[in-house]
Amino acid sequence: MIAVWQKTLRWQPTSHQQQQLQRLYELILEGNRQLNLTRITEPSEFWEKHLWDSLRGIAPFFKEEGGGMKDEFDSSSSFIPPYGSGEGVHPSSFRVIDIGTGGGFPGIPAAIACPDWQVTLLDSTQKKVTFLQTLATTLELENITTLVDRAEQVGQLPEHREAYDLALIRAVGSASVCAEYALPLLKLEGQAVLYRGQWTAEETGALRPAVAQLGGAIAAIEECSTPVSQGMRHCLYLRKVAPTPSEFPRAIGVPAKQPL
Ligand code: SAM
Repeated sequence: MIAVWQKTLRWQPTSHQQQQLQRLYELILEGNRQLNLTRITEPSEFWEKHLWDSLRGIAPFFKEEGGGMKDEFDSSSSFIPPYGSGEGVHPSSFRVIDIGTGGGFPGIPAAIACPDWQVTLLDSTQKKVTFLQTLATTLELENITTLVDRAEQVGQLPEHREAYDLALIRAVGSASVCAEYALPLLKLEGQAVLYRGQWTAEETGALRPAVAQLGGAIAAIEECSTPVSQGMRHCLYLRKVAPTPSEFPRAIGVPAKQPL
């Protein structure tokens, strides 16, 4: 597996990080007995669809020496941020939020891979968040905090609005709903990673005006296939280019019922 990390994400986990990922798997299986955290429990499927899939979306933000996919992108693009856990910045103040984290994906693998990021796990289900808090303590992940709330409410709270450098969101809703949850939470120049499966140029065209309305722009779209089952994946990288108008996010349930 280490060879696959290295080849596909150019990330080399330390033995401590490998142990944390292994322990994460065991703890999620234990938690699954009481909570409906995931249907993916077979080890290689868990590795591919939860661990690898979580990390491929943030690989462009990894430290230079840790790898990442930077040179696979057009170097003239402004997509890659001048911050993250790279040099010359303030990595310990790099704030990340995983919106609708569920069983902790992609936020927990991100917190393991990037221990200098401050990762907030947000979910509307109290039981899941209580479990994740215990899990983070067991794994000694001091860079994780948890939050029980709806994304629509959190986006209107002064302590969270425009407070994050990076927002991650996987399997929570349509792309425009995810954009409405994520963009209000970002600082100017912050980025959101929308994890998608299949994705088309038509969908990009339809999403662009919604993202613009929220003060964002589509910075890059990365296509890849998963390393074992060759499933198609896309990551949409949104950049916040202007303040999000105060009416967004709209009230609870409205983004999903009346998507932009
Ligand atoms: N992100 C995880 C993953 O990819 O495995 C979990 C995905 S699960 C299908 C969706 C999660 O989003 C659920 O745990 C649900 O409680 C949470 N969720 C849905 N809408 C939400 C909202 N508006 N605010 C906060 N959490 C939300």
